[in-house]
Amino acid sequence: MFRWFSSWLRNNCRLHCRRWWRFVLLWLTLPAFAAPAALPAEQIGDGVFAIFAPPADATPENLGRVVNSGFIVGDDGVIVIDSGANHRHGEAILATVAQVTPKPVKLLINTHPHPQNVLGNSAFAERGIPILATAATVAAMNERCPTCLASLRQSVGDEAMRGTRIRLPDRTLGSGQVLEIAGRRLRLLHFGHGHTEGDLAVFDEGSAALFSGDLIYRGQIPHLSEADTSGWIAALDQVAMLPFRILIPGRGAAGTAADLAPVRRYLSELRQRVSAAYREGRSADEAIQLAELPEFAAWHGYAARHGRNVQHVYFEIEREDMGGQRGGRR
Ligand SMILES: [Zn+2]
Repeated sequence: MFRWFSSWLRNNCRLHCRRWWRFVLLWLTLPAFAAPAALPAEQIGDGVFAIFAPPADATPENLGRVVNSGFIVGDDGVIVIDSGANHRHGEAILATVAQVTPKPVKLLINTHPHPQNVLGNSAFAERGIPILATAATVAAMNERCPTCLASLRQSVGDEAMRGTRIRLPDRTLGSGQVLEIAGRRLRLLHFGHGHTEGDLAVFDEGSAALFSGDLIYRGQIPHLSEADTSGWIAALDQVAMLPFRILIPGRGAAGTAADLAPVRRYLSELRQRVSAAYREGRSADEAIQLAELPEFAAWHGYAARHGRNVQHVYFEIEREDMGGQRGGRR
């Protein structure tokens, strides 16, 4: 195509015409090579920055950038938490860090294996930045990321996902839970299967800031497709014991420890209502009608997700009742 076009230019255009076409071509192809713009970052603690995403589902307009990420600037380097939904999102997060500090990124932490949190890994991997997650997150990415990548591509389009490759974390959480890096002490907390099988919360002791990953949503109905809801509630009870003053939730605005309660209440009321419907012998479809939770109807995603969440919990309770294994889809 390019050869044909060059030859057409030679045969049909005078010099000024050829220059004009080359100028047009340059402008048309520039976006493909332009560095991604930095994203708005908010400093919310000593060396702690968050990049907040508005409440939304992934669409071509928002490029799939629907979950929060952030970074911690230490004495001689930076730790990034979650890499975004695609390669260019990862690049944009790195550009954001570079706008704040010239210090190198020393580590990327994936909080859990959902595509919007891990598909930007390739931007970090190609710079040789180590990536850390729980072993369960690595296993889940290995199993599900090919499908998740295809599904996210359908939601946001090919252009947004251009250059995105699955890059698994190359480090897993060891037995020690305290990481000393770049002059910061980070407590890495895995409480078992909750929102997903691989959840990792990151507590920065110096600033008392907690990056909770999707263990905590604010003002949004949580996604339960991989969840173990009783494990999730137990994890939130463990999180509540941490001395954190600043919360960077997986979704929603910054908050404090008080903002843990609403998501716990949603999960717990959901379980109670669905459990009651199950014990009355109602079907999963009937349970959807019986487990409306008007208190949470104003949260983003209620209409689209709450009914699915009821069904998820219904089958969880049925498995528990039959003595089966707890936990969501593995
Ligand atoms: Zn998630």
